[in-house]
Amino acid sequence: MASKRVSRRRVLKAAGAAAVGGASAVLGGDKALALSEVEGQQGAPAVVTNTQAGRRFRAFVKYSTAPPSVVELRARALEGRLIAVRTEAAQTCYTTVRQVLLPSANAPNQPGILGHGGVGIVEAVGPQATRVRVGDRVMVAFHAACGACHNCLWMRSDQCVNRGNATAVPIADLDGRTLMSADNTGMCELMIVQEEHAIPVFTSVSSVEISMLTCVGGAGLGMATTNVPVQIASDVVIFGAGPVGLSALQGAKIKGASRIIVVEPVPYRRDLAMKLGATHVLDPNQYKRTPRVRPANGFGRDDARFDDTLLDHIRELVKQPTDRYWAGGGRVGPDHIMEAAGGDQMPPKEPAGPDPTGITTLMQSWELCSRVGTATSCTVGQPENAFVQIPGSQFGDSARHWWVGTAGGTNDRRDTPRYVRLMETGQISMKALASRTYPLDQTREAYQVCADRTVVATVVTPNIT
Ligand SMILES: [Zn+2]
Ligand SMILES: [Zn+2]
Repeated sequence: MASKRVSRRRVLKAAGAAAVGGASAVLGGDKALALSEVEGQQGAPAVVTNTQAGRRFRAFVKYSTAPPSVVELRARALEGRLIAVRTEAAQTCYTTVRQVLLPSANAPNQPGILGHGGVGIVEAVGPQATRVRVGDRVMVAFHAACGACHNCLWMRSDQCVNRGNATAVPIADLDGRTLMSADNTGMCELMIVQEEHAIPVFTSVSSVEISMLTCVGGAGLGMATTNVPVQIASDVVIFGAGPVGLSALQGAKIKGASRIIVVEPVPYRRDLAMKLGATHVLDPNQYKRTPRVRPANGFGRDDARFDDTLLDHIRELVKQPTDRYWAGGGRVGPDHIMEAAGGDQMPPKEPAGPDPTGITTLMQSWELCSRVGTATSCTVGQPENAFVQIPGSQFGDSARHWWVGTAGGTNDRRDTPRYVRLMETGQISMKALASRTYPLDQTREAYQVCADRTVVATVVTPNIT
């Protein structure tokens, strides 16, 4: 990181001088002042509040082969673009349940805080931070959105490369071991992150509700409202009614989809999907999928490789009023498929789907999609040695679009404010997905019920006991 180092001694010395001279940026009794007063740098609007060094805070940390636990850390001084955010709410992403609940074969190289982002109040900023101010409420996104790297410039900030190891700097200490800044955070009283993760939110919507946008909710909304051209009266199928799928459902509804069909094995999740706007809910365990015997002359270009009664049923549900080609007919299958099921990280207590690897739903997404439609996936947990099979003759020359991954195209910096507006107007409800809140000491329990799938999602509120 090419930053000009500002020493604590010089800052404090300059702060004293600035106080005498009436510098404007003194905040809350901290010795803080405009950076330009310190090092003669011009135009830096940031505030230096290098008073975090030694501050003790608790966090849910993985530091050995044992599952993570709540420990006390000591903050380092804020350097560069680091900011310190007092955490109000952080959602427990299903992606990490194994990491949280099970011991690991190897200890991590460095201790690490768990979590995929959170929401809180900025308490201090490093000398080079410019995007947020002390006192701002911010969403700390799991993904950085630097706005400067190649992927950000090409409108895929969910693939921002200025993240994780690329920008890691020391943030805290644990018994002589150093914690580095990282994408993972949230399960802690204080989030110390690079400012490119933080998006100010100016709203009365609760932090618990906004915290659902970090990772899961933003990913689901992004699937339906960014890259994928969901149009009015289109037919949408969503595999999986967890927080990602239920967010995608709400996004599809806003975009004006007429039929929204949700495929989900857990009964209470199907009920919630109906409440949130699904037109049909289907239990995948009620259907059969069997490989077809290869005909003597081989499969044709569009031949299905499987007899799949679920897909047949969905095709029937979205059947057009006419199959006359000269009268607008000819579409087979829904316009848009959103795959939000993924692989099972752990056996759930609620009913599991037919394929715990998550590979079948990926293949069904392709097979079911209209030839001119889109299929998008935003899931993890598929085993590394499992492969999706799509006939090359279809993949090589098909008009189907496949949009894949990460945050479903959400650009947190661009999209969070508009998602928040949709919450303010009641057009989407993230409250419905945040089933329960837990104090920091019960972070493990919060992840456990998430792994069990007995709730849609849980939120940890680290500064509320
Ligand atoms: Zn996540
Ligand atoms: Zn970037």
